[in-house]
Amino acid sequence: MKIKKEICRHYGKKIFEWCIKKYGYSKHYKFISELVFRKKDACGDKLKGEHTDCDEIVVYLDEVKNISDLVKTIIHEYTHYIQSPVWFQRYYKLEKTFENHPYEIQAEKIAERDFKECLDDILKQ
Ligand SMILES: [Zn+2]
Repeated sequence: MKIKKEICRHYGKKIFEWCIKKYGYSKHYKFISELVFRKKDACGDKLKGEHTDCDEIVVYLDEVKNISDLVKTIIHEYTHYIQSPVWFQRYYKLEKTFENHPYEIQAEKIAERDFKECLDDILKQ
């Protein structure tokens, strides 16, 4: 079952605010990332979220299955906002793939470590 769009937006905002409080602002961007929700065009991959070059955190509504999934996706992408975009690209040029890219591994680790704490906090509000 898919999570409803309105619920996604409602909790997405809270999760995003939680991330700002927890991790602070990035040193690498002048502005704070923006959280946007998009429908996935039919390109086939199972990407749930993305941190774009124009500094948006995109959540693909169709790919997010539940609230935990939404929390993990936003924490993961927020971590990319904190990380250096220069090194992010550099690693990919060193032929790092999604599986062995140090920044991807770090983002997954943080998402797995913190999603329960975030979930508890936003459900209490
Ligand atoms: Zn990532």
